[in-house]
Amino acid sequence: MVITHSTHDAPKQEVALPSALAGINSNVLDDAILKKLVDPDVYYALAQCRATGVPMDRGFADALAKSIREWAQSKGCIGYSHWFSPMRGAIHGEKLETFVGVDFATDRLIVEMSGTQLFQTETDGSSFPNGGLRKTHEAAAYIGWDTGSPPFVYRQTLYIPSTFVSWNGEALDQKTPLLRANMAVNDLGVRLLSLLGDNETREVVCNVGWEQEFFLIDREKYLARPDLLAVGRTLLGAAPLRGQEMDANYFSRLSPRVSRYIAEARDIMWELGISIHCTHNEVAPAQHEISPIFGLANLVADTNVLAMDVLRDLAFDHDFAVLFHEKPFAGINGNGKHNNWSLSTDRGVNLFVPGKTDEDNRRFIAFIAALLRGINRHGDLLRCGVSTAGNDHRLGAQEAPPAIITLNLGERLEAHVNAVADGGCFGGYETDEKEIKVVAPVADIKANLEDRNRTAPFPWCGNRFEFRAVGGNQHIAFPLAMLNAILADSLKHMCDEIDAGKPADLVIRETIKENKGALFSGDGYSEALNAHARQHGLTHLKSSPEAYTALTADKNVELFGDLGIFNRHELTARQAVLQEAYASELYVEARALLRILRTLIIPVAIVDADVECASGFQSRLFDEKRKLVEQLLSETGKLDELLGAFPNDDPGQSAWYAHHELRPCMQSARIVADMLETLVDGRSWPLPGYSEILHHHQ
Ligand code: ADP
Ligand code: MG
Repeated sequence: MVITHSTHDAPKQEVALPSALAGINSNVLDDAILKKLVDPDVYYALAQCRATGVPMDRGFADALAKSIREWAQSKGCIGYSHWFSPMRGAIHGEKLETFVGVDFATDRLIVEMSGTQLFQTETDGSSFPNGGLRKTHEAAAYIGWDTGSPPFVYRQTLYIPSTFVSWNGEALDQKTPLLRANMAVNDLGVRLLSLLGDNETREVVCNVGWEQEFFLIDREKYLARPDLLAVGRTLLGAAPLRGQEMDANYFSRLSPRVSRYIAEARDIMWELGISIHCTHNEVAPAQHEISPIFGLANLVADTNVLAMDVLRDLAFDHDFAVLFHEKPFAGINGNGKHNNWSLSTDRGVNLFVPGKTDEDNRRFIAFIAALLRGINRHGDLLRCGVSTAGNDHRLGAQEAPPAIITLNLGERLEAHVNAVADGGCFGGYETDEKEIKVVAPVADIKANLEDRNRTAPFPWCGNRFEFRAVGGNQHIAFPLAMLNAILADSLKHMCDEIDAGKPADLVIRETIKENKGALFSGDGYSEALNAHARQHGLTHLKSSPEAYTALTADKNVELFGDLGIFNRHELTARQAVLQEAYASELYVEARALLRILRTLIIPVAIVDADVECASGFQSRLFDEKRKLVEQLLSETGKLDELLGAFPNDDPGQSAWYAHHELRPCMQSARIVADMLETLVDGRSWPLPGYSEILHHHQ
């Protein structure tokens, strides 16, 4: 081939900017815009408040509120709401208030939003899940602006991202524990770095990139399924004619209708400053994924909830319904939400990237050691962070990480870390990228340092860890708070040891040695992991109720108390909220299933049997159907009895009951109903089946 060099530049083209790209950031009041809107002294006062938590001077706060209101008015807003995250999944709370006030001197209406209104509001904390922290006669709770998360305009309302605490200052939300855990990681991360000889780093922050999976189905089908309406998942349904067989869906093209919907959703998210970068079809039919570029943990916890809102709201406009549930359909993959997680410093160092020098690699290994200790000693907390009724359908199955929490470094890094523990030098881990030769004209590919392990709950990806066990319907702030807490605890342990006089290198080596049982780079779906867990005494919490019990173990009360993340009271409350949510979700599921079986399925199956009987045909099929109907009558009888005996006194007991009694009974009833679905006259089956739901709109 002859290669020629052009001697003149091609004429320059005018760069086009499609309207979607021109609209990015237009609905978010980030610092870049705020700086232009307010006087420098107002901005400085806000920055001080952000850093210290000390309230702004009233005059400055009023000036700030005025500028923010005027910005929102220019976007068509007539009011605002604090936007907070009660302890109830990824569903934010909002109370809409207007920009209208009264001038009592003249009794005339005026347009206003004061500094106080911007920064805080009071409400009834007892009407939100609170685990006993609030009561009807002691109900006050406060919503306070998280100045680290920018206000935004959505559907013509100004939203102010906020925290939510009781009158006693105890956390009633998802965000406050994450902010506290972030602060612990920052303080202790900086402290460890300084003990390792780095006296310049002033800040360690946690970055996260989420990957949101969801199903998109026709709204009409959704409305025709009482189970989807009530609990967001199908409680019965025979396997579709085509499910995941043939691996045809992953990364296949988006259908035109879905593509229009996702493009519009992405444009709205871009306007809100959500950096959606990647969109693709997922493994199951009708399943998709979007993910933004990573950002600060606290911010992306907010934007994840907001992105879920956008997807939900826009689905309505497009005659779709979106399902985030961890297992909307039996027998095909459910929704996860991988959290890609890393730490970086104000000097631009990613602490989970191996260093080129011995010194840099020592720092890298020190943070890996802390993480390893956290996972080994407090894997129960990570497990608890991802424990929900929905996620119990995923974890431990062959589509999602196992319920045993281990650290997957990849073979080579694991070997290196083990060698360091045995006294080897910190450097020496080959950080040069691996190159894969394909064939010209394809350029050699630069590959990750380690292979990808999709069976691990917590694999290293070269510059971050991927916390894969998080559920699609979860608020990510809670699992992230757990993760940051267990890391901070180990950073503290290592710092204390060094401060007590042990050489830093010895502390790093001992920490690895004592906790290497949590290292596992093999196949997480294999029996080998169970054997490994038994050998090294790793906890294996198979269900959510088990994990909730572990939350208040003495070691955990101590950990959260020491780090200032939860006091004992807050922790027991959190446990009760999780147990109540689990128990009531299963209770509602069981009640819905019973109603559907009794009022829709059984009557249809009986009529079907009657018609066949009257037809005069003799067939084994008829007998089979009749038997199934009888079985279903007996199963529904059992379910009814179990619901009648549901214990209500203690949330822990309710959760256990729901898990050990209701769940298996629901499962055996659905098996019978699903068999009937494959036999009964399809024209009279009262619910849209899986095939219709998953394929008709594609
Ligand atoms: P996958 O191939 O695992 O599905 P994706 O490309 O969908 O991964 O998502 C990867 C996510 O990881 C993105 O949100 C990306 O911004 C994020 N990410 C990349 N580097 C980091 C990092 N250093 N810290 C945190 N998140 C990161
Ligand atoms: Mg991923």
